[in-house]
Amino acid sequence: MARGIETKCLHLEEEEGRGSDHGAVSYPIYQTATFAHPGVGKSTGYDYSRLQNPTREHLEKVVATLENGSDALALSTGMAAIALMMELFRPGDHLIVDADLYGGSIRLFQNVSEKNGITFSSIDCYKEDVESHVRDHTKAIYIETPTNPMMNVTDIEALGKIAKKHGLLLIVDNTFLSPYFQNPLDLGADIVVHSGTKYLGGHNDTLAGFLVTNREDISEKLRFLIKTTGSGLAPFDSWLILRGIKTLGIRMEKSQQNAMIIAEWLKEQRAVTKVIYPGFPTHPGYEIMKKQARGFGAMLTFQVESRGSALAILEKVRMIKYAESLGGVETLITYPITQTHADVPEEIRERNGITDSTLRLSVGIEDVKDLLDELGKIFREIEGGSYGRKKS
Ligand SMILES: *Cc1c(COP(=O)(O)O)cnc(C)c1O
Repeated sequence: MARGIETKCLHLEEEEGRGSDHGAVSYPIYQTATFAHPGVGKSTGYDYSRLQNPTREHLEKVVATLENGSDALALSTGMAAIALMMELFRPGDHLIVDADLYGGSIRLFQNVSEKNGITFSSIDCYKEDVESHVRDHTKAIYIETPTNPMMNVTDIEALGKIAKKHGLLLIVDNTFLSPYFQNPLDLGADIVVHSGTKYLGGHNDTLAGFLVTNREDISEKLRFLIKTTGSGLAPFDSWLILRGIKTLGIRMEKSQQNAMIIAEWLKEQRAVTKVIYPGFPTHPGYEIMKKQARGFGAMLTFQVESRGSALAILEKVRMIKYAESLGGVETLITYPITQTHADVPEEIRERNGITDSTLRLSVGIEDVKDLLDELGKIFREIEGGSYGRKKS
């Protein structure tokens, strides 16, 4: 019987009972650049750490298992993973990409990939007729679900069918939910992308990225690319991510629990005009989320009544950190317009609904009472005399 995901975060079935490495329970950090050969024409299985290193390999196996893939590659950052993935394409190729993506991905596509002769159609995959955008030279569909930061939910299985029918790759950035809550390969995706910096690492202390696939041909191409371009994850950082993954399950559960409470609380505040959280039954993607994911995650976006209120909140937070990034144990608040999405052209930002009063919360695992206490104080201050619950 297949093991539960919490167990998979801790144990690699294939490596059990081997008794190697002095019985170390924590996988060793092989801090070495190169490996001595036992003889001419002989190898220990490792030659040089750019090609492969045992610590990185162990991490890659764990992540492949978590995503039900046959292979995973660990890279130095999420962007390094996406940049490597783009090397699968050549000049003249066309990709359909979601309009609301991580800002860094949009920047890469517009400033690097386009220069290299790749063209893009940027559309709202959650509501548009994706198939009508397929051209002769279309090679892939690239999405996030839920999207960053607007939390649009796309039906992965439906897109998988369109991709199969037209021979396209379906690539899903699964950073927001992590493999704990969603496994796109099971729903028809060909490649899963992760910023391992976020939930997989989980502690706001290490950068990493992953590409996971269940296709032999893709894995072969990616293996060639990682050794050729050299953006594999370092041994120590691989170990940090391995350590983070051990607690993925309890971190995801606790931060989701906190996020639901905070999302409900924010809805009641007068200064808040909108709360976008896919765990609300009123969220347009709620039913699809229930079908394709095992949870709703711990990311939420909210609008306040004015830019002034948004700035005041960012100035006043103390325990909650005003910082880019997400998915760590500490709660972070982000201002997409000047941070994660600063390089996204204004017309795209506006179309996606990112304004100067949009804030994003990555809810951590603190005692939720303390988070509400801090937010409560801040809202009392910014709302002045008008503080209080909305009259409904
Ligand atoms: C952070 C992030 C990335 C980029 O990852 P880095 O590790 O920062 O390079 C890509 N996609 C999403 C959804 C992200 O949140």
